[in-house]
Amino acid sequence: MSLLVVGSVALDSIQTPFGQREDALGGSAVYFSTAASLLTHVQLVAVIGDDFPEAHVKLLESRRIDTSGLVKVAGGKTFRWRGRYGANLNEAETLDTQLNVFADFAPTLPENFRDAPFVFLGNIHPSLQARVLDQVRAPKLVAMDTMNFWIQGERAALLEVLKRVDVLTVNDGEARLLAQEPNVVKAARAIQRMGVKQVVVKRGEYGALFFDEHAHVFWAPAYPLESVFDPTGAGDTFAGGFMGYLARQGRVDPRSLRQAIVMGSVMASFTVEEFSVDRLATVTAADLRNRYDTVQRLTAFEPVELA
Ligand code: AMP
Repeated sequence: MSLLVVGSVALDSIQTPFGQREDALGGSAVYFSTAASLLTHVQLVAVIGDDFPEAHVKLLESRRIDTSGLVKVAGGKTFRWRGRYGANLNEAETLDTQLNVFADFAPTLPENFRDAPFVFLGNIHPSLQARVLDQVRAPKLVAMDTMNFWIQGERAALLEVLKRVDVLTVNDGEARLLAQEPNVVKAARAIQRMGVKQVVVKRGEYGALFFDEHAHVFWAPAYPLESVFDPTGAGDTFAGGFMGYLARQGRVDPRSLRQAIVMGSVMASFTVEEFSVDRLATVTAADLRNRYDTVQRLTAFEPVELA
């Protein structure tokens, strides 16, 4: 089934303890759709300037991502993000955010995007997320992501969108910030009281927690990697694997949700091995299956028998 995504398409400049890269292809919608396109048909809504390399658009198209909702603004500059990671690779430090063409973007969805059954509102201004939601007709599942930049800067608008989505995906720092609650479990519950049915809390190398509407919790580990090179995009890639799998299954039952959480975790493990989408773009279905099976074995154990 089709999966619609709105989010940032960016040129990222990144420093990690292992190297640095200027103006690399990035953005929430790019990581998301590159991941999800391994599993389902993706429709992308975003904006770029005329400085955005054509080769990047070609890369997205080569994955059969529908780019008819990708608007190019003549004379405009593409969104740019500059970030740095220290020894703690789980947390990015934002050095600079330039919204550029996103500052006045008002997306109008192509007609054939409006019936998308699965919708992902990637990290971007909450009013843009709301505008996309206004235009979709009867989605089966709406998920959304956000970050500290919007939680602190656009809290009221963010709280409005939250009431309209089924699943929120955030990292643990963002969950704490949004809920103003240091305990992650309590924070997830508090976010559910804001109107979201289900919450996914991403915890970097410690995996992801899923809180459903019946107070059940599921946890998936991160795939144990020997070397993490650049964590940028791990969260969006996780969401692409999660939503891509649900859209491929075409249903949202407890079993599919658990598989989707593991798929998200597996997908993110590829992104962090290289800068940008360099590794993710070469992943095959067999690669996904191998890591999925490894994670399954990693967490399988027998019940204990005590007299
Ligand atoms: P993550 O998956 O959380 O590592 O997200 C990384 C991506 O988020 C980068 O490729 C950035 O281009 C993008 N990004 C950073 N800040 C913002 C922002 N304020 N709005 C939208 N996208 C952003």
